[in-house]
This record gives sequence, C-alpha cells and structure tokens, in this order.
Amino acid sequence: MRVLITGGAGFLGSHLCDRFLAEGHTVIAMDNLITGNTDNVAHLAGHERFMFIHHDVTNYIFIEGKLDAVLHLASPASPIDYLEYPIQTLKVGALGTHKALGLARDKGARFLLASTSEVYGDPQVHPQSESYYGHVNPIGPRGVYDEAKRYAESLVMAYHRSHGLETRIVRIFNTYGPRMRLRDGRVVPNFISQALRGEPLTVYGDGAQTRSFQYVDDLIEGIYRLLFSNEAEPVNIGNPGEFTILAFAELVNQMTNNAGGIRYVDSRTLDDPQVRRPDISKAKRVLDWQPTITLEDGLQRTIPWFRAELQKRGEL
Ligand code: NAD
Ligand code: UDP
Repeated sequence: MRVLITGGAGFLGSHLCDRFLAEGHTVIAMDNLITGNTDNVAHLAGHERFMFIHHDVTNYIFIEGKLDAVLHLASPASPIDYLEYPIQTLKVGALGTHKALGLARDKGARFLLASTSEVYGDPQVHPQSESYYGHVNPIGPRGVYDEAKRYAESLVMAYHRSHGLETRIVRIFNTYGPRMRLRDGRVVPNFISQALRGEPLTVYGDGAQTRSFQYVDDLIEGIYRLLFSNEAEPVNIGNPGEFTILAFAELVNQMTNNAGGIRYVDSRTLDDPQVRRPDISKAKRVLDWQPTITLEDGLQRTIPWFRAELQKRGEL
C-alpha cells in the first residue's frame, strides 16, 4: 500500500510511519511541524519507501500518484498546545479533515481519522463506550480541541454516507511512550522529567481525577487492525486500567526512586475531565484487540527514553 500520514512528524504519527514501513508499505508523512519535529522521523531519512512533505493540511493537499490510505493525525494534541494554538486546532480539525477527505475521495483511498476520548468531554457516563454522546462545553478552553474532533467525526461520517468513502474513526485514549515532547505539558512527560530531575511532581488540583494510560505500541496495533477492518463507526482504543493522577504520581516517583515528592498546584483545573476510562468491548469484538502492556511495563520502556533526552539536552 501507499499511505499518507498527516501529522507524520508527531509522536503518534512517527510511530505509525515506522509500523507501516515495517509491514512493507510506502509512507508519505506530511506535517507543518507546528507541534511535531523532524527528529521523530530523522531515522527514516533516506529510506527508499519513505518521503516527508512539509505542508499545512488546512491548505489544498496535492499528492502525485496513487494512494491506498490516508491516516489523518495532524492536530495539536496536548492541552497546552491547543490552548496556545486554538485557531490552528479548530482549522486542522475542520479544514484539514476536509482537505484530507477530499484527497482520499479523489484517490479512492481508505480514510482513518485520529479522534479522541475528549469527544466524551467531562463524562457523566463511566466507563465511556462509543454509544455515549459526551458532555462537552463548546466554549470552554478545551472546546477548541473537543469540538474540532467532534466536527471532524461528523464530516468523516458524512463522506462515508454521502460519497461511500471507506472510513475509520479511532477514539484514542491517553497514550504515552518514547518521542513525546519533554515539554508538551501532558502528565506523562511532565512527571517523568520532573522525577528524573529529582523535583516534586506537579499534581493539578487534588489529584483525584482519573486517567487510563495506554502504551503507544498497543495503540498502533489497534489503529493498524482498525484500518484493515470493516468498521466505519468509531472504535475506542485505550487501556482500561484507571488511575488517579495522585496514584500515577506516586508510581512514577517509586519507579524513578524520586525523593522529590509531590507538589499540589492549582494551575489548570479548568474543564479538566474528572474521570476517563475506555469501554473497549467493541475493539475486542470487532478487532480482536486489547492492550497487552501494563502501565509499569510501559513506563519501564518510556523512562529511559526521557532520561536520554534530558541527558542530550544537558539537563541531567
Ligand atoms: P503531536 O503534536 O506529537 O502530533 C501532531 C502532529 O500534527 C504534529 O507533528 C504537528 O506538527 C502536526 N500538525 C498539526 N497541525 C497541522 C497542520 N495544519 N498541517 C500539518 N501538520 C499538522 O501529537 P500526538 O500525540 O502524536 O497526536 C496525534 C493525533 O492523535 C492528534 O490528532 C491527536 O488529536 C490524536 N490523539 C492523541 C492522543 C494522545 O494521547 N497522544 C489522544 C487522543 C487523540
Ligand atoms: N496533570 C497534572 N500535572 C501535570 C500535568 C497534568 O496533574 O503536570 C493532570 C491534568 O490536570 C489531567 C491529567 O493529569 O487531570 C492528564 O493531563 P494531560 O494533559 O496529560 O491530558 P488530558 O487527559 O487532560 O488531555
């Protein structure tokens, strides 16, 4: 297959590039580098089946030759990123998804949208299954991201229903692993880099809010299976293991032998979803997928990567 991966220089996009190349496919990664970095795909430079195109997908996308699949991952993804780039986030969810869908239609390619558990907002149903419509504040700080993804899902289904386009929607729950940006502000890079520096971990609010963390390799496997399935409606891909942020902080401190402890801060509690856990029965049923990597195992694989990054930057 010849596949286009938008957001291909990002954390998840670059892991998808690796997977598709490893399976023998040809990969075109497209990215405007707003939150991504070519370092994530530097190891692919010169690969005969890999190409990188610097382009903003909110503008018309031109690709020469055939395409079998378009995987649309382009979008700022961490809260501090989409709060810094609110309009770009709305544009890439709306205009970028439209351009990527138009390209897929033109090429007769299958289309996959990277959506998010944020479509469930601050959920009033727990755990979240795909049938839950969500509880989102359109004008809250997170609204720019949540509503962009909700609109994107709507647009994908309209292309599927009106044009018969083969489409897939993955609702991704919190994913972590190597290549996350040290300063993307998400809880995993924040806690690991604070712990490795011997600093206290910054727990927002009282730390009673929960998240369910999945290791990147599990997600990539789920996305790969979804693309090749026949499921046009959204599928949750996440790890149902649910932790309070406080318990997660304690685990990171324990695994890094950090004596720095915990510092409670009040910096970003606005709109923070209080709970989040995927119901993955649909993924089990239609993809025969479930996560295989526990949080401890995933952190064992991730901590050394952050240590090496901090050392490279002279911060350790
Ligand atoms: P990331 O910021 O590392 O990657 C996103 C990439 O998209 C970046 O390389 C960025 O430069 C690129 N991009 C943004 N706007 C663009 C534009 N207009 N044109 C071209 N490229 C553009 O974030 P990530 O964690 O790898 O997230 C990838 C996708 O997965 C996003 O769509 C995100 O919403 C979704 N997602 C991620 C998670 C997670 O936990 N990591 C959870 C839910 C959904
Ligand atoms: N969080 C925290 N300290 C940090 C960063 C995040 O306590 O330094 C909390 C945040 O308030 C949220 C959870 O960790 O409840 C996950 O935040 P993240 O930004 O990783 O992703 P979200 O799931 O909120 O999009």
